[in-house]
Amino acid sequence: MSTRILTAIVTLPLLFLLVLGGTRYAADSLAQSLAPPLPPPEGGERGIPILMYHKVNPDPRTGGLGLRVPPQKFARQMEYLAGHGFHTVSLTDVVDHFQKGKPLPPRPVVITFDDGYLDNYTYAFPILKKYGFTATIFVVANTVGKTNVFDAKIQPVNKMAGWRELKEMADYGITIGAHTLDHPCLTQIPLEEARHQIKESKALLEAHLGRPVEVFCYPYGKYNHELARVVRESGYRAAVTTGQGLAGPGDDPFTLKRVRVKGSYDLQKFITELVKHYYSSRAHTNGRQVLFSGQTGKTPPRCGIISSR
Ligand SMILES: [Zn+2]
Repeated sequence: MSTRILTAIVTLPLLFLLVLGGTRYAADSLAQSLAPPLPPPEGGERGIPILMYHKVNPDPRTGGLGLRVPPQKFARQMEYLAGHGFHTVSLTDVVDHFQKGKPLPPRPVVITFDDGYLDNYTYAFPILKKYGFTATIFVVANTVGKTNVFDAKIQPVNKMAGWRELKEMADYGITIGAHTLDHPCLTQIPLEEARHQIKESKALLEAHLGRPVEVFCYPYGKYNHELARVVRESGYRAAVTTGQGLAGPGDDPFTLKRVRVKGSYDLQKFITELVKHYYSSRAHTNGRQVLFSGQTGKTPPRCGIISSR
């Protein structure tokens, strides 16, 4: 074999990798230049984004991209936040900021994961640690260390984090919140049963983790004002829904909106979703709520819709 052919065999894959890498960075910087401008960093007066994730997993067999963000994409999203002056805070920090004026770092953002999948520990946790980020994981208390029995009929089998993983993450500074005992649709069961799910999940998590559980997440985003009252009476300090938008200064801390992040989003779409609500907030529109296409305002999704858990 001639030297020329040998050189080609060695250099062609290298060139290919270089072009691929270059394209990735070019696409990233294009995404950032096309996105709307970020708001000024000070405070959370326009509202604070609470990002909503479920699974962070590279394996397509663990579910579709509605609920699963590949770790590579999650890593680039975290890299973007860290590189653009965002600081992760907890939900109780947000509530204390709005209720008591507790100061927050510049560009505060809350990162949340629903259901408590083991992949949050395996894939998301190392990336969060890399940037010194905190997050909140809403755990279905009766499924800890087991599988996703609550949606086994419509989703592939997934492993849920065990007590050991939850404890390790809590020790690092990840907030563990409750997502009921069994993930029922709370608006479709008797109120006393809902109260049991809300109260006992808190008690079970606290007993195992040895720390207070102060935040709650409604399964399927389904809630009403009675349920919000039960959550408050059960000793929680805040609760999140699947309604889309920022957490604003005048919002009820027991029906906080979030910003959904899907696995299909490229970096530009992630930035757009992160930023767009700053410009539709009440603070910015003098009380007028601006809805974007695909955004349905306050109507929570129906129970059982796969992409709405
Ligand atoms: Zn859920």
